[in-house]
Amino acid sequence: MAYDLTGNRVWVAGHRGMVGGAVARRLAAEGAQVIEAGREVVDLVDQAQVKAWMAATRPDAIVLAAAKVGGIKANSEFPVDFLYQNLMIEANILQAAHEADVERVLFLGSSCIYPKLATQPIPEDALLTGPLEPTNEWYAIAKIAGIKLTQAYRTQYGRDWISAMPTNLYGPGDNYDLNSSHVLPALLRKFHEAKVSGAGEVVVWGSGTPLREFLHCDDLADALVFLLKEYSGYDHINVGSGVEVTIRELAEIIAEVVGYEATLTFDATKPDGTPRKLMDSGRLHAMGWNRARPLRDGIVDTYADFLAHERRHGTDD
Ligand code: GDP
Repeated sequence: MAYDLTGNRVWVAGHRGMVGGAVARRLAAEGAQVIEAGREVVDLVDQAQVKAWMAATRPDAIVLAAAKVGGIKANSEFPVDFLYQNLMIEANILQAAHEADVERVLFLGSSCIYPKLATQPIPEDALLTGPLEPTNEWYAIAKIAGIKLTQAYRTQYGRDWISAMPTNLYGPGDNYDLNSSHVLPALLRKFHEAKVSGAGEVVVWGSGTPLREFLHCDDLADALVFLLKEYSGYDHINVGSGVEVTIRELAEIIAEVVGYEATLTFDATKPDGTPRKLMDSGRLHAMGWNRARPLRDGIVDTYADFLAHERRHGTDD
């Protein structure tokens, strides 16, 4: 039977992030009462704070979108932050949710949990079948532990908790800091700044040949609400768009959306990361969700948000 979210109190852990923000908007549209708690209210790395806050708040459901996230450079430079903080956040929240008898939890991972050389498109059961991509193994190990912990509560205590693994995400509210961002917001910013300054050149990291699949965060939020309502099972579920492009093709689409033709310079001193990362979202599609928007439309929407953000704050905050 479908889980009814109407009127339910749903805590979106990580509501200030791009994904959490999108999930909170989507849940509100579903008639749920969204609970938000910033770091000043509860520090998710602190076990005692999380337990006390959860015992006092007792949400009906949780979407666990809180995480220390970053692109290829940040992951390589801050391994402790990515492994320790993510392990603590998920362990604290899941144990406190168990103690507070939270009915539904949706744990969010990422496609980097899969082996570097997994068969493509990557099915859910590729998990733990081979070595990870070293540039983001810290984050991946933490997320794999989170999936397993979610499954452990289901197995040991019968909790109706689930996990979803989104592909590479983008959209309004993304991080545009070039040292820690992912490729899509980084290239949007680089093309925009080249247009403003007339620089004529945009530097793209790596060879431009890696393939990536991209999903707009509002489409992810829609899929997550669908899963919360419809899915109850042990296995984690892939959430992708099925659309993959090379990094060079991505740069070309962004150039077109921004409206600036620049020479692409490929910086071979920067890592390519995993060569290809396309998820098999067949299980989600078979359940009835297949509503991802075309990549170009999503980038148009994201560029509009980037421009609005720049008008409000500048891009360096
Ligand atoms: P990944 O999907 O975990 O590898 O994370 P990223 O989104 O950071 O990087 C994806 C691919 O885009 C990698 O091959 C990067 O080298 C490449 N890339 C090209 N230009 C950039 C850039 O300016 N920033 C980032 N983060 N990646 C870039």
